[in-house]
Amino acid sequence: MNRNIAIDGPAGAGKSTIAKMAAKQKGLIYVDTGAMYRAMGIFYSRLGVDPADAEAIAAHVEEADVSLDYQDGVQQVLLNGENVTSLLRTEEAGNMASVVSKHGPVRTRMVELQQKLAAEKAVVMDGRDIGTVVLPDALLKIYLTASVKVRADRRYKELQEKGEECSWKEIARDIEERDYQDMHREISPLRQAEDAVLVDTSDMGIEEVVNTVIALYEERLGRNGLQ
Ligand code: C5P
Repeated sequence: MNRNIAIDGPAGAGKSTIAKMAAKQKGLIYVDTGAMYRAMGIFYSRLGVDPADAEAIAAHVEEADVSLDYQDGVQQVLLNGENVTSLLRTEEAGNMASVVSKHGPVRTRMVELQQKLAAEKAVVMDGRDIGTVVLPDALLKIYLTASVKVRADRRYKELQEKGEECSWKEIARDIEERDYQDMHREISPLRQAEDAVLVDTSDMGIEEVVNTVIALYEERLGRNGLQ
């Protein structure tokens, strides 16, 4: 029996914050799969490939080598050997990731890598298809969500704290667009796995969400004799 936690949900629901904290508390490796798709977005953008062009995307997919490394426990993403971690967290990279991630060859390559990582170490993995496709046997599956308003508020605050110019309306529109794209694509659309626990964080603080996830995890470990 594995000890993996799968966390899925829409953009800005707090997946990475919660996954990182849960990983630290329970001694698991945190794998941010969105960062891998963001790196693929950068790869195609540098090549000048139209992200909607399925043929061109497939033709170059073998040239992209995305790998993960950990520095002081923090995930670093390498794209063909170059550490691109600092380029990944922009709105543009997120939107690009959402467009390239709908292509089958890109997903196949990323899923393979993600499954290999989880076979080697116990992980908390977050993304859109972790409970449904990547780790269908995860010990615990969480579907983390929050209203568009709350997610836009959080993102707005985060950008303001970084001193970046931003418009709340644009952020909310981006979130809605990305939700739509991720939930309506043909391959591995974002959806709650049947056996996932729904956690709506709209009215919850970070601490409360982490405690909820940890309590569920410990209950699963106990139930499976893994404690
Ligand atoms: O989670 P994050 O916002 O970094 O993800 C960026 C984009 O990558 C998502 O909007 C989604 O389209 C894609 N993604 C995916 N499958 C995953 C993780 C991310 O399709 N497992």
